[in-house]
Formats: sequence, C-alpha cells, structure tokens
Amino acid sequence: MRIDLHCHSTASDGTDTPAELVRNAGAAGLDVVALTDHDTTRGYAEAVAALPSGLTLVTGAELSCRVDGISMHMLAYLFDPEEPALLAERELVRDDRVPRARAMVARLNELGAPVTWEQVARIAGEGSVGRPHVATALVELGVVPTVNDAFTGHWLADGGRAHVAKHETDPFEAIRLVKGAGGVTVFAHPAASKRGRTVPESVIAELAAAGLDGIEVDHMDHDADTRGRLRGLAADLGLLVTGSSDYHGSRKTCVLGEYTTDPEVYGEITRRATGAFPVPGTGGV
Ligand SMILES: [Zn+2]
Ligand SMILES: [Zn+2]
Repeated sequence: MRIDLHCHSTASDGTDTPAELVRNAGAAGLDVVALTDHDTTRGYAEAVAALPSGLTLVTGAELSCRVDGISMHMLAYLFDPEEPALLAERELVRDDRVPRARAMVARLNELGAPVTWEQVARIAGEGSVGRPHVATALVELGVVPTVNDAFTGHWLADGGRAHVAKHETDPFEAIRLVKGAGGVTVFAHPAASKRGRTVPESVIAELAAAGLDGIEVDHMDHDADTRGRLRGLAADLGLLVTGSSDYHGSRKTCVLGEYTTDPEVYGEITRRATGAFPVPGTGGV
C-alpha cells in the first residue's frame, strides 16, 4: 500500500487542480492520498468528485502556525470541515486584515498616537484595509509627514513598535481546535531548516504532551541524519511517524509518492479520527 499524506492543489499553492491531483495520484499508483492545502478545505468537493477507483482520499489541511516567533506548519487530518471554531480560525489565518489593523491602532494608541479605527476604516473605504491606510491616518494627524515616514521601525515597518505580524495559529491552540473537530495532528517537516528557524525539541515534547499525534519525518527537506534523529525523538515521545511528498505540482521538484507513510501509521490515524472518514474512490468524473 502506497500512502502519501501531504499534497497541495490550486486550492492553495499547488499547480494541479484538486481533480488533476487525485487523477495524477491514481496514475502514480498511490492507494491513499491526502489533500492538505494551506488553511483551506475548499478543494475537497472537486477532489471527491474526481476520485478514481482504487484511490482513497484523506481530507486535511496544513495549518499556518507560529510559536515563540517561529513559523511552523501543522498537518490536520480527517477533521470536520464545518466545525465552527476551527473553521473560524482557518478564515482568520487566510484574512486577518481587519483584526490586524485594529491591533495596530491599539498599539499606536499605547504609543500616544491618537488614531481611531473609524478614521482608518474611512480612509480604507471600499478597499481591504491594510498598513498603508493606518499610515495615512498617521499623516492626517500630523504624527509623521509622509506615508513613507510611517514605514520605519519607529512605527509600522516589519518589527516596528506598532507593527502587528500576520496572524498564525498558536500550535497548542491548533491541536486543541483540530481535536475539537475530531481530527488528528501531525507536525509538518519539523526540522526543515532551509525554511528558517525550526522549533526546538523541547517545544515538540510540549506539543506531544498537549496531544500532538505525530511528526512528519520522511520529507524532502530532511536529510538522513535529521530523519534518524526525528525517528528517535518520535519514539521517545510516543509520536506517530509519517512520510509524504509535500507535492505542489510543477511548483516544486518532488513527485507524488516520493515519500510515503507506513500503512500501520495510516491505520492508527484513521482510528483516532472522528471528524471525517477516508473517502474511497468510485471512478471519478
Ligand atoms: Zn509546509
Ligand atoms: Zn505543504
């Protein structure tokens, strides 16, 4: 049995449509494929409709998380896509412009700049609100002479005093939300250091204690030494070990089924999940 538990479609940043993805997965000889688009489930229906016989679809998502200032990805499988709390969190991650602008207004107020949300909303008008509107409010109030002067470390530049980073989910909250929606969590490519700082093992241990189900070990971004170390860590912490391609179509070089997950681990994931069930293919359209 060949099982690939991490694939992207055009519902996020892959290049295959969900239908193309499942057809390609069938043609690649996979038995099970997971659709794990970033912070969205909107590819599900199309994937299910096109699912070839002999291929089983695991529904999922890859959730954008951040802990101690380190961005990380959490795979979530077989959760109920309609469950309101997790649904609201996915929507907030995809579009946090209003709460983020409001948070920047609050920071500016703390710093003594009398910007109001009403003022920023008026400046934004029909447009989707963003930092340039907050900056314009600072210009209107005479706090800075030009919009460019607002984009400094003193005010709104990345890391500036009034800057608020894009919302990403706290991974402990992600685990709680996914469990609440009947799903299973696997920390994606936890040691992919090419992507930036990685989460220390002490935090992975804390995530395990908080209910994390597994870690993705066999992944293109992990070398042989890293995989060995992660396998040992998973054994110590009682975590499931998965492997997957993180397929993005032609966006990346990896191919479907380049890395796979042990059928026993897959079986355990399906036993733990209560929010959704794997969908067996019936021939597709
Ligand atoms: Zn990822
Ligand atoms: Zn991914």
